[in-house]
Parts: sequence; structure tokens; C-alpha cells
Amino acid sequence: MSYQSIPLPFLTREISDELMIAISESGDHIFTSVDEVRQIRKHPSSLSHERQAFLRARFFIKSVDQSPGMRRLLISRRAARRTTTQDGPSLHIIVPTLQCAHSCKYCQVSRSLNDEGHTIKIEDLDAACESIFESSSPTLTVEFQGGDPLLRFDLVRRAILYITSLNKSQNRRIRYVVASTLHQLNVEMCLFFKEHKVYLSTSIDGPSRLHNKNRPTPTRDAFERTLQGVALAQKIIGPDAVSALMTTTKESLLYPNEIVDEYVRLGFKEIFLRPLSAYGFAKRNQKFLAYTLEDFNQFYLSALERVLYWNQQGVELREVYTSIILNKLLSTFDSGYVDLQSPTGAGLSTLVYNYDGFVYPSDEARMIAETGDQSLRLGRIGEAIASLLSSDIQKNLINASLVDLVPGCKECAYNQFCAPNPVDSQAQFGTPFAPVHLTEHCRRHMWLFDYVFSIVKNADDDLLDLFCRWAEPVVDKEIL
Ligand code: SF4
Repeated sequence: MSYQSIPLPFLTREISDELMIAISESGDHIFTSVDEVRQIRKHPSSLSHERQAFLRARFFIKSVDQSPGMRRLLISRRAARRTTTQDGPSLHIIVPTLQCAHSCKYCQVSRSLNDEGHTIKIEDLDAACESIFESSSPTLTVEFQGGDPLLRFDLVRRAILYITSLNKSQNRRIRYVVASTLHQLNVEMCLFFKEHKVYLSTSIDGPSRLHNKNRPTPTRDAFERTLQGVALAQKIIGPDAVSALMTTTKESLLYPNEIVDEYVRLGFKEIFLRPLSAYGFAKRNQKFLAYTLEDFNQFYLSALERVLYWNQQGVELREVYTSIILNKLLSTFDSGYVDLQSPTGAGLSTLVYNYDGFVYPSDEARMIAETGDQSLRLGRIGEAIASLLSSDIQKNLINASLVDLVPGCKECAYNQFCAPNPVDSQAQFGTPFAPVHLTEHCRRHMWLFDYVFSIVKNADDDLLDLFCRWAEPVVDKEIL
């Protein structure tokens, strides 16, 4: 092989005075310097043979007599990073009702238990079940969201039975998830869920006092009742029947260690340090609930440090947000996180069949609709998915998410891993096309990529081993 090299396109970012990274078109990264970048671009053949081989394997340079195989490898590496939106919508969210026993201040969508008129019509529910099979994806996740879907277990049951019967001729791999407070969970439900391999997802915000403050109920025992539900599900369905998600409220910012410790105490293997989504905010509560990106970052740093502490003690606990970023940096295969897809995962990989009879491109889009902005409605439940996905609304979402075209993203070193979130932009600025650097989504992810690169750079072997395990896409063995 010739050691005459020529440069390939790549982008750089100076994270700090001491830390510069470069990312090639294959999504490979190197830690580098201004001088080396100049050398790669101007005189790559003057680098040591060893460094040239290293850079060639990562698609920063190529030899003058490069084989066509390398070109094909680059194309397939790029495609592997963007598979999530290629197979058609695979996540189908059904919202049977907005009723919920909680009255969380930050939630715009839920309605009280005696509310009427925020529950899906039977004909819409059946039509949603049929629509799901219009997707070409061989693997489907059907998730029930609310409100609290278990308040209308009759509808959840009907949908699962109907989808299961339709699947007899379709043979898709289907995974069911019900997101619920679990307050209503009983033995009958658990037996049904066990029979149909339904996973449960619940919310646990941290220790009892914090959770009950975040999620008020008239009896002030939301935490205790959720834990009773978790115990019942684990006993009847199995030890891994329930996963938990937390929401970071302004109050939560004060308790990073206590929140992580509670997840360890309860035996969960994952924690997702998620910022509060602004979509569901009741506007009048902004002053009491909103916090800055910097506040969240500080909380995230402390909580992640605690997660790493527990891992050092031999306790398995994976932080999901860090894992998503590590997956982008360290793995060849994308884990499918919908919010970082180009073109957007909204619509292309997720569809929401809402109680109101309309289809939305994401859970956040239906929440925006509850605040009065219905501009992201794709159409009525029952309309062909192909026509929903070729609507002007969907085309706009796609155009606003193309990293190779969007100003700001085009030049961003992270554009192999990241993408603008047009739904987020709509929520924040009333348009999917807001200048990307102004969006909270971009600012948060720019910071996250910077931060995760810096800890990878300084990680010792043990920490790198842990990060490599976290970076692997989580495979659901049940649907393989
Ligand atoms: S959204 Fe921001 S961080 Fe992401 S690729 Fe675009 S400019 Fe970069």
C-alpha cells in the first residue's frame, strides 16, 4: 500500500484550550491539536506511518490508491448510524385517555379522574391498531401513554388483543409497553400483561418526599402506591417487569445524590437523568418550575458522579442519557434515540394516535397541541400512514432536521451524531425552523457532547470499559 495520503473531509471542535477533537464522515473521532489538523489537511503524507494508518482506518485520510472497498465501507458506516428512520415508524404510541390520579403542576396534559371527553373513541382505537401494520418495520413497539392508561384498562386490553389477532397474519415482532403510575394495577391486569409480554414503565422521581411533592395526589401517597404497583408487577410478571423514569423538577435539582441512591435502593439497573420538558408546562407555573440549562447541567454532573460512584462499588447502574451520547461516540450501531435523528425521528420512526382522534409525529407534539398549538397534527386516525408521512407538515419537520442543510448544523463537528429537533423548536419558538443555536435542544446536546468527550479523554481503563458497555445499543431479547 502507498503511504501517499490525501485528506478526507472532517470537522473539528475546540472543547477547551487543552482539548480539540476532530470527527470524520464515518463518525470516528480523534483527539488532536491545531497543528496536527493543519498537517492532516495540508501534508498528511508527512505524518508518521503509524499515525497515517490510524487516521486512514478512521476515514480522516485515504491513500492515493484507495480500494473501492474502503469507499463502500464508509457508505455503510454512515448508513449504520442513520438506520433508525429508514424502516418506517416502529414506535406507535396510543393515548387511550388523559385521565390521571396525579395533579403534577408541570403537566399540561393530564385530566382529573372524573373528567369526561378526554378518552379515545372505540372506532379510533381500532383504526389505530390497524394503522400500525401499515408501517414496514419488522419490529414494532406499541406503547400506551396518558394520562394514566390503566384507568382505562378495558381500552388497553382491547387494543392488545386486537393487535395480537391482526399480527397472526403479519408476523411482526411486537413489544408492548404501558406507561403508568401503577396505582390501579391489580392481579388481573398483571396476569394479562404476563400473558402478552407487556412491559410496564413508571415514574419515580426520587425519595418519597420529593416524589410526593412532584406528583401530588389527594392522599399524598403517590410514591408508596407506585412502589406497591412495582412490587405486585415484579411478583406476578417477573423481576424485570417494570422500568422507571424520573423527571427533574426545580426541587429535584437539590437532591442529585438522594435520587440516585433511591434508584440503587429500589434495585433499578438504569436511571435516566432527564430535564423537564417545557412542552407540558402550564404557563402560569413557569416561574415556579422553570430552571436554566446551567442548573440542569450542574445537577446532571453531580448525579452522574454518584452513578459512577455506585458502579465503582460494584452496583450495576447505567445512566441512560450518558449512554445515548456514548453510543454515538463509541459504537458503530445507532441505539435509535429518536430526538437525535437526521432526518427527524418524529413521524418517521414514531407516531402517536391520540385520544382526540388525530395522529401526531411524537409524544411532545401531542403535548404542544394541548397548549393550543395544533400545527403538528399530521391527520386523522385511520388516514393511510403513507399519506400522513407525505403531508406538508411532515415534509417541514424533515427539512428542518437535515444536518447537511441546516445552517449551524452543517458546520457543527457533532453533526454525525446529532440533529436539530424541529418539534422542540416548534414548542420553544412556534416554528420548526428556529435558528438552531438558539434552541434549548442544541445548547443542551452541544454541552453534553463536549462533556462526554472530555470524560472519555480522561477516563482510565476501568471507566473506559464501563463506557464501552454503556455505549452498546440495548437489545430487547424478548423480541429477537
Ligand atoms: S443541533 Fe446543535 S449540536 Fe446538534 S448538530 Fe446541530 S448545531 Fe450541532
